[in-house]
Amino acid sequence: CADIAMYRAKKIGRNQIQFYSEELAREVRFRNRIEMGLRTALERDEFRVFYQGKFDAISGELLGMEALLRWQHPEDGLLAPDSFLPIAEEIGLIDEIGEWVLAQACAQTVEWLTMLAPVGKQLSVAVNLSPSQIIRETLYQTIVRVLQQTGLPASQLELELTENALIEEPLELAKVLERIAALGVVLSLDDFGTGFSSLEHIKYFPINVLKIDKSFVASVEQDERGKRLLSALINFANGFNVVSVAEGIETEAQAQFCRERGCNLLQGYLYCRPIRPVDFEVQHILPLLAEGNV
Ligand code: C2E
Ligand code: MG
Ligand code: MG
Ligand code: MG
Repeated sequence: CADIAMYRAKKIGRNQIQFYSEELAREVRFRNRIEMGLRTALERDEFRVFYQGKFDAISGELLGMEALLRWQHPEDGLLAPDSFLPIAEEIGLIDEIGEWVLAQACAQTVEWLTMLAPVGKQLSVAVNLSPSQIIRETLYQTIVRVLQQTGLPASQLELELTENALIEEPLELAKVLERIAALGVVLSLDDFGTGFSSLEHIKYFPINVLKIDKSFVASVEQDERGKRLLSALINFANGFNVVSVAEGIETEAQAQFCRERGCNLLQGYLYCRPIRPVDFEVQHILPLLAEGNV
C-alpha cells in the first residue's frame, strides 16, 4: 500500500514537472516570437494607437483622450500593451515606439482640432511615457520636435508618468520635467496610489493632474473602507490643487460617487472604451460638429 502511494506520488510528480516544462517552453516560444516581431513591427506598420475619451465629471463634456498603444500582431491578433511593452522596454525599443506613439497621437489630435475649429472646441491628448523614456536626455528634444512637426500646441499635450518612474534620480528628473512643463505641456501622475514612490516626491515635480488608479474605483461599490479611501484620494488631489481624474469608471454608481466627492474628470468603459481613431471620430468628434452647427 505504501509502495502504491509512493508510486503514485512519483508519477504525479513527474507529470507535474512535465506539465510545467511544457508550460515554460510555451512561454519561452511566445516571448521569442514577441521579441522577434517587435524588432520589425514599426517598419511593418503593425502598431495602432487607440483612443479613450476623458470627460468632465459634471457636464459630461469630452475634454480629451488618452492614446493607448495596441499591436496588430500578424499571428496573435490585437495585443494589449501589457503583453509586449515590458519586452520592448527590456530590449531597448521603447524609445522608438514611444516616439512613434507621441507623433501619431499629436498628428491625430491636430486633425481633430482642425475639424472642430469651426465650433471652437478644444481637446487635449494624453500620451503614456514609460520610466525609461523619462530618464532619456533626449526626451525634451523629442517632445519639442514632435510638437513642431505636427503643429500641436504644447498646451494640448498631456504626458502621463507613473510614480515608479519618479523614484530614481528625482532631482535630475525634476529638472527635465520642469523644462517640459515650461513648454506648456501638462504632466500627470498615472495610477496614483499604486506606486512605490513616497508622497514627498510629488512636491518636487511639476505635476498638474493626478489620475487615481482604477483599483480604487473598482472597490467602491461593496466596500465602506474602499469608499473612504477613494474619497480621501480625490480630496488629496483637490487639496493639492491639481486636477483629479478617476480612471476605470465602469458603472453609473462609481461615476456618481466620484462626481459627488468632487472629482474633476472621469474616464472608463462606462463612457468610452479605447477604440480605433475612425470609431472615435464617428462616436465622439462628429457629434460635436453636429451640435455646434445647430
Ligand atoms: P494606463 O495608462 O493606466 O491606462 C489605462 C488602462 O486601463 C488601459 O489599459 C485602458 O484600456 C484600461 N481601462 C480604461 N478604462 C477602463 C475601465 O473602465 N475598466 C477597466 N478594467 N480598464 C479600463 P491598456 O490599454 O491595456 O493599457 C495598459 C497600460 O499600458 C496603460 O495603463 C499604460 O501604462 C501602458 N501603455 C499603454 N499605451 C502606452 C504607450 O503608448 N506607451 C507606454 N509607455 N505605455 C503605454
Ligand atoms: Mg495612462
Ligand atoms: Mg492608469
Ligand atoms: Mg495602468
